[in-house]
Amino acid sequence: MEEMPQPQPSRVYLDHAATTPMVPAALAALTEAAGLAGNASSLHGSGRRARALVEDSRERIAAALDAHPTEVVFTSGGTEADNLAVLGTYAARTRSDPLARGVVSSTIEHHAVLEPVEVLERRGAEVRLVAPEPSGILSVEAVVEAIEDLERMGTPAALVSLMWANNEIGTIQPVREVAEVARARGIVVHTDAVQAAGPCPISFTESSVDLMALSAHKLGGPMGIGVLLAVRDATLEPVVHGGGHERGLRSGTLPVAAIAGCAAAVEDAVRHRAEESNRLITLRDRLIEGALALDLGITVGGSWTPGSAADRLPGNVHLIVPRCEADSLLFLLDSVGIEASTGSACQAGVPGRSHVLDALGMAAAGQVGVVRFTLGRSSTAADVVAALAALASCVPRARAAYAVGGVGA
Ligand code: PLP
Repeated sequence: MEEMPQPQPSRVYLDHAATTPMVPAALAALTEAAGLAGNASSLHGSGRRARALVEDSRERIAAALDAHPTEVVFTSGGTEADNLAVLGTYAARTRSDPLARGVVSSTIEHHAVLEPVEVLERRGAEVRLVAPEPSGILSVEAVVEAIEDLERMGTPAALVSLMWANNEIGTIQPVREVAEVARARGIVVHTDAVQAAGPCPISFTESSVDLMALSAHKLGGPMGIGVLLAVRDATLEPVVHGGGHERGLRSGTLPVAAIAGCAAAVEDAVRHRAEESNRLITLRDRLIEGALALDLGITVGGSWTPGSAADRLPGNVHLIVPRCEADSLLFLLDSVGIEASTGSACQAGVPGRSHVLDALGMAAAGQVGVVRFTLGRSSTAADVVAALAALASCVPRARAAYAVGGVGA
């Protein structure tokens, strides 16, 4: 296999869910295309060459994800794709049916879905956020109950938005089952597949959803480019208005080089998915089993079946470490070269309280130490050994700091 670029040679990078290094094929496609002049909307030769590159990329992404090329809408990333799906669907559905003000989603969605849903609530939407089971997985029945509750209220759901895989605890959600029920009732279904695309086998056609958000930098492509897969008859209004690019759904000059890098990354991720998934499951399980065996009272957040990626992403290790602060543990791990995360969203670099842990009934991340190691293409068995050694030395130090109320123990 090609040599994977290491984020920083002296560091152990275990934060691939935040962003993963570009794969060589994506880097090559990006840099080659970056040297070309031409706006893909221009009619001259340079413009037509840029357009050909965009359309070739669109076709390759569609082929890799079992979608039709016209279903590929380029956005600036996962956040914009989610916003377009949520806000755009609600606008279009309520225009044709003013009573359909219902929105169903989950309490463990990424902020890229939760925040636009909150915007809709402030504009008069009836929102139902379904909580997961203690396993971190939603029950289909609970989602159906929320849909039926909205029907009883006289505000039927316009949209169900359910993430494919959770970014903090890595749990896989029953998207297809929910989509089949919801679509049979005429409800538009969106899934945020930002963390799932790459590690999980994805067929847009078979998923039964109308809309699916993807982000290139989570699967080996460049930052600043994403895709909303949208069925051809999607009930969707644009959020960004302008020159009418991308079926009129997302205006703005297309970033040709980023699109070329995105296509190469998607293809590469799909080509290597099965072997990579097996490799990462082995590393993931070794890290989880090693952490549990440290005798430090560590437990796993969310469902975990050893040897399987059915309930948890192959590269996600989410550990709950009682009696220490997440931030001091991360700081100590970083000081010994291990780059990890809590997994919860930061706002301008300030870690926020984890709504996912809240949804699972756990105390705030500040009171219960959590650490998320996420493995990816550059991860090795040596990284797992280094992470376990670091946990063994850093957890007692983080606990000592917690006991005296400081960080610098
Ligand atoms: N959705 C999920 C589940 C994510 O994990 C992220 C990023 O962390 C996003 C959406 C946002 O994607 P992007 O960084 O491309 O805006």
